[in-house]
Amino acid sequence: MLIKRLATDRPDQIQLARRKWLGQCLKAGAGTVVLTLAGPQIAFGAGIVAVRVWPAEEYTRVTIESDEPLAAVHQMVHGPDRLVVDIDGLDLSPTLRELVAKITSNDPYIQTVRVGQNRPRVVRLVFDLKEDVSPQVFTLAPIGSYRNRLVFDLYPVNPPDPLWKLVRDTEDKQRRFAAAPAPAGADGVSGAPATGEEDAIGALVRKFEDKGPNPVPALPPMAATRPRPPAPSATPPLAQNNPPPALPANNPPSDRPFKMRRLLTVAIDPGHGGEDPGATGAAGSREKDVVLQIAQRLRAKIDAQPNMRAMMTRDADFFVPLNVRVQKARRVQADLFVSIHADAFLSPEAKGASVFALSERGASSSAARWMANKENASDLIGGANMGNKDAQVARVLLDLSTTAQINDSLQVGKAVLAEIGGVNRLHKGSVEQAGFAVLKAPDIPSILVETAFISNPEEERKLNDESHQDQLANAILRGIRNYFARNPPLSKNPSV
Ligand SMILES: [Zn+2]
Repeated sequence: MLIKRLATDRPDQIQLARRKWLGQCLKAGAGTVVLTLAGPQIAFGAGIVAVRVWPAEEYTRVTIESDEPLAAVHQMVHGPDRLVVDIDGLDLSPTLRELVAKITSNDPYIQTVRVGQNRPRVVRLVFDLKEDVSPQVFTLAPIGSYRNRLVFDLYPVNPPDPLWKLVRDTEDKQRRFAAAPAPAGADGVSGAPATGEEDAIGALVRKFEDKGPNPVPALPPMAATRPRPPAPSATPPLAQNNPPPALPANNPPSDRPFKMRRLLTVAIDPGHGGEDPGATGAAGSREKDVVLQIAQRLRAKIDAQPNMRAMMTRDADFFVPLNVRVQKARRVQADLFVSIHADAFLSPEAKGASVFALSERGASSSAARWMANKENASDLIGGANMGNKDAQVARVLLDLSTTAQINDSLQVGKAVLAEIGGVNRLHKGSVEQAGFAVLKAPDIPSILVETAFISNPEEERKLNDESHQDQLANAILRGIRNYFARNPPLSKNPSV
């Protein structure tokens, strides 16, 4: 039995009531988890402000927002699988009842929820489940426009492995390219297949078909630092219809046309999601939506390249903690991490795109520092379970940022910024640096693209415009290609 006690200083009367209540709960059985809250006191008669459900393949989240902190005990019950939650100090209210109608049939994990007054001041929720889950239950202190939140994250017992999914996608891609090479895109990027690519994909797929998915993703070892190539005098051409033979694994970096022996993996990270809407425009556009749309366009363009593939840190409207975004990129040994955002500022006049890299020693400007603080608050707003041990370990690991990673990030940032400058005005003509948590993969060049200011009405309109989204995605792709043409990554085992 696990008891989590986070608060101690509350009035005697409430302590007594809580002890009695906890005593009842503890009799409930060995699988019960008791969660009490940080905060001055447990309220009796807390008001429910809102209930929200975020169903997603990765996990389904249920949030109960209240004007006072809530305490809950939960227990998994099997045969059939269900999650039983008792919330203390609460009377059933119409807002809480809304939860029933908010469970949708496409929810991967929740079939239905039942809500009832179990006993005086205790509301019981019973989630009837589609499969066994590992629940994480935690509370979040008020932040931004949110009041107190009680959060239930329902994870599958065997979480999907991003590497396994990427392998399956690569297999599909192999079939597509075997059937018909992709035509040149509107941006002039060729779809000619790379020599040796089929072998690399085949080996990748065969290995994972033999072994099956790895249910416990392990972080890959740190990649070797790439030798620094000399800077080329001119941008190499992007496309070739009759490519030269593939570069041997130990080929010295050069400015020859972009052609890789192995697939390049780009981790695309649409910012925010779920509980964290990001910035909101005057017309109501939410950053989390427009950046997902741009990211999906970029993914399609990358996947249409014969020698590249994309992995999305999220492909739906749910929240992914910042360190999990980085872990996913490391799990697939991404060659590059691109986080996509849309700025906001107090003044609607602020405008233009910017590109950021990590900084080891302070921010390059106070605006960059402000931006990093704002983006790093995503975990607080989106709601990361800070008590999770895995998350703590990951955060320590992510502080191992390296100078080589930052140098590479600045190079790729420069290449991307140059291309975005062709389709959008720039907020600043150089890559800025600050301590963005999401850019802290120690071994992956990582950039954060602020595509425009969603707080600027004209740019908000453009961010919603399909052709502008497409132009932005093309520009980012061209920048990535230009970078790799100048900085071919080291060959690595194609099976990872
Ligand atoms: Zn953002």
